[in-house]
Amino acid sequence: MTFKSINPYTQETIAEYPAHTAAEIEKKMQDGWKAFASLRQTAVEQRAAWMLQAAALLKNNATEHGSLISREMGKTLKEAKAEVLKCAATAEYYAEHIQPMLEPRLIASDGRKSYAAFEAKGIVLAIMPWNFPYWQVFRFAIPNILAGNTVILKHASNVSGCGLAIEKLFREAGFPEGVFQAVLVSSKEMEPLIADARVQGVTLTGSTPAGKSVGQLAGKYIKKSVLELGGSDPFVVLRDADLIEAAKTAVKARMQNAGQSCIAAKRWIVEKAVADDFIQQVQSIITSLKQGDPFAADTDTGPMARPDLAEELEKQMEKSIGQGAQLLAGGERNGCNFTPALLTGVKPGMTAFEEETFGPLAAVTIADDEGAAIRLANQTAFGLGSSLWTRDLEKATRLATLIDSGNVFINAMVRSDARLPFGGVKQSGYGRELSLEGVHEFLNIKTVYVQ
Ligand code: NAP
Repeated sequence: MTFKSINPYTQETIAEYPAHTAAEIEKKMQDGWKAFASLRQTAVEQRAAWMLQAAALLKNNATEHGSLISREMGKTLKEAKAEVLKCAATAEYYAEHIQPMLEPRLIASDGRKSYAAFEAKGIVLAIMPWNFPYWQVFRFAIPNILAGNTVILKHASNVSGCGLAIEKLFREAGFPEGVFQAVLVSSKEMEPLIADARVQGVTLTGSTPAGKSVGQLAGKYIKKSVLELGGSDPFVVLRDADLIEAAKTAVKARMQNAGQSCIAAKRWIVEKAVADDFIQQVQSIITSLKQGDPFAADTDTGPMARPDLAEELEKQMEKSIGQGAQLLAGGERNGCNFTPALLTGVKPGMTAFEEETFGPLAAVTIADDEGAAIRLANQTAFGLGSSLWTRDLEKATRLATLIDSGNVFINAMVRSDARLPFGGVKQSGYGRELSLEGVHEFLNIKTVYVQ
């Protein structure tokens, strides 16, 4: 079996990578376990120094890494470089802040001394998606490696080159052999890896069906798991919102990365009183977006990552139109290219409301009032992010408690940030990445009690 990387814009095959054999995977497991034995004994200052070196390599070679991302999955070079630099900034953030996050927490009890220690456990298997092929990997790997765990990455099949480039980068940064390794293996062959006693946990960022399968295997082998899954985030615009800012941000939050983001604003829920005005503004921005060559400086949205993804989005759009939605802009498909589209009149029960749409398709649903807007926001199987727009901050914080999602961004688009916990509820998964919560997910929280 081989993994093909195909440039979505040109449809050229960039590279073919043979799958690793069972013997090669076993060697990687041995190396990962050996590296864990030494990494856990290494001073955290040393791990932080290597991580800073990784950050420097990312910054110094942002164009090279960015070009690889754009070639393999199609996002614009501007977006790809920004992704690489975000990884570097996160590596720097954690190198500076990891130490107190790992310090034992003293707890008063009836003993002479008692505390919770945070200790590395072994290899963590990371199954990652193609949409942010560097960021998704780094945001998990940075805190885990700084805490002393080692990582085996199974990257999405269309971005094998990115997985291998990240492995090389960790090696060049000075980390011992085996600290970070990529395996080229089919997603159908995850069971032996999850079952392996050296693997102490598994994290998956991807679709809900993939999450179900990996979650089942993790349960079968009693492995800690974190699942960062799909979303259909509401972007709620209330009548007292700053409409100009809301419209600009809504388009960015939906269309960046050609709409292929778990936390994209997929359902725009707008209070009736301002709906016409909002629709007019977003329509004008969307029709001005330039879709095309990811390497051209004036391109706003590149192609989607694979033809099947673009076809699926087209089907969802057409189904929604058949169910009564109106197409006000875009929606033309040519191979992986899909012009940014705007659907209005979207209602519960329609495909664009009920399913995750993973591409540049915005869907407007009108709410009679604030209460209806919150009900519509929650009327989804997902619960990843949400964005709420109003000038009344007291109202905003009250409404934030009523939204069933892993995060609520008020008057801002949802984004991940090393300082803030990231993750979902409902079908969007469980567990957290980033912040202190993300650091502790795959550690042994060991109680030590002295009589
Ligand atoms: P995907 O098809 O689920 O693939 C994600 C990863 O899981 C890939 O490495 C894939 O490998 C692997 N995989 C697929 N099925 C599997 C299975 N049954 N068992 C084990 N591994 C499996 O998702 P995608 O299309 O790459 O990414 C888009 C989805 O990811 C969207 O739903 C999006 O919302 C979600 N996402 C979530 C977050 C978050 O933080 N919550 C972030 C980004 C994306 P192969 O490529 O080899 O199939």
